[in-house]
Amino acid sequence: MFDLIIRGGNVVTPRGVVHCDVAVAGETIAALAQPGALAADSANRVIDATQGIVMPGGIDPHVHMHHVWFKPDGTPLVTAGPEHVGIAALHGGTTTLIDFAFWRDGLTARQAVEARDKDFVGKSPCDWAYHIMLHTEPPPEFSGQLAEAIQAGYPTLKIFTTNILPSRTGRMVDFGDIWEAFQVLAKHGGLGVIHAEDNDIVMHMYAKLIRENQVGFEHLAKVHNQLSEDLSFRRILRLAESVPGTALYMMHVSAGTGVTAIAEARRKGLPIYGETLHQYLNWSAEDYKRPNGQIYHTYPSLKSKDDQKALWHGTASDTIHCVATDELCCTLKDKTLGDRIDNTTGGNSGVEPRLGVMYTEMVVRRGYSLSRYVDLVSSNAAKIMGLYPRKGAIAVGSDADITILDPARRGTVRAVDLHESDYTPWEGHEINAWPVVTILRGKVMVEGGQYFGSQNDGRYLKRKISSETLSGALP
Ligand SMILES: [Zn+2]
Repeated sequence: MFDLIIRGGNVVTPRGVVHCDVAVAGETIAALAQPGALAADSANRVIDATQGIVMPGGIDPHVHMHHVWFKPDGTPLVTAGPEHVGIAALHGGTTTLIDFAFWRDGLTARQAVEARDKDFVGKSPCDWAYHIMLHTEPPPEFSGQLAEAIQAGYPTLKIFTTNILPSRTGRMVDFGDIWEAFQVLAKHGGLGVIHAEDNDIVMHMYAKLIRENQVGFEHLAKVHNQLSEDLSFRRILRLAESVPGTALYMMHVSAGTGVTAIAEARRKGLPIYGETLHQYLNWSAEDYKRPNGQIYHTYPSLKSKDDQKALWHGTASDTIHCVATDELCCTLKDKTLGDRIDNTTGGNSGVEPRLGVMYTEMVVRRGYSLSRYVDLVSSNAAKIMGLYPRKGAIAVGSDADITILDPARRGTVRAVDLHESDYTPWEGHEINAWPVVTILRGKVMVEGGQYFGSQNDGRYLKRKISSETLSGALP
């Protein structure tokens, strides 16, 4: 007896797109069968997916929920938490979110995770995980704790090579400590997830532009520029190469120089992976000039149209593997409070429209196969982050995280239809498909626009990076 049969859809499986039925028992996928082969009375429920696209639930490997940011006046702003962002994600067909746990001064790695659990346990309707985020001047005992954390199922370490803004300290990790961290990651099977910018170039440009009174946020691309991405990517990739076995995931690649650096590292056989963000694929620094232009921004900044082209090329040539959001959910008022190069809020609103918008951009406008689309919004993140095949696959034994897209759905993205904020940078963007059913571990969370989930539905996902990922064989 099955709990659920999803009937008649085009199912995106690891072996390609198959017209079949998907049966779910409990929290996992129990069978894939010829259409109609499973009797309707063998399940408690049948969902008709005829004409639909059945895909693994979306995975966003880079989000910030319940995140503390400082407004230009110095007062803290806490962005929306998983109890809010998770609902939006599920409406948009995404079932797993990976956020960050801040390994602050005085905390052990385990305490960092426990502190972050307070924001998630009993609050997240999506399944979730954390990247542990290293801060400046880690204590001498951090190597041992990192090894323990990897073994305990927290195998990804976030490292910044810049403080991003002149007013911020505590993020940038120096190269000696990064070198030390890479040795631990390589030895114990961890993965470095990297925010790479060249701090000298970035801080130099802040000082220069402030001196020259070019302080409007429309100048951000001059600060967080292509040269910074070039130098910082090459430096960190060279460091990784010097510690055999170091696997890295380069977050939010924003420039052609970053794409080229990753491609060169991969040609040497190094286990280096690339992520870009959906807004880098759609907007350029020109868009800063539009009304409320801050809504398109995150750090590093938007770049040129040529950079955008290079990023697209990366998604089609095994250099960019994941399209994430860098979600940071706040109101339009808060997102546009800062208007200078040195106080504009980073992060995006976009966890809900990601799957729908990327379907339009990839499958409809650029002719990507459904399999490549699913790789970029789900499967590759599962593979790289140590969740595959539990997540990111429609396969027997995998978690029944299933999204049904309706490719007949037409219209445009409108903030009023979404569940995120009072604005969306995607307002007016054309839709050619939209998630109509989202299932998390066998439970129908969203169907026909109605939400059936609860804050207790999500679970923490302990992870182990696969040997294929660590050796560079994946995806
Ligand atoms: Zn981020």
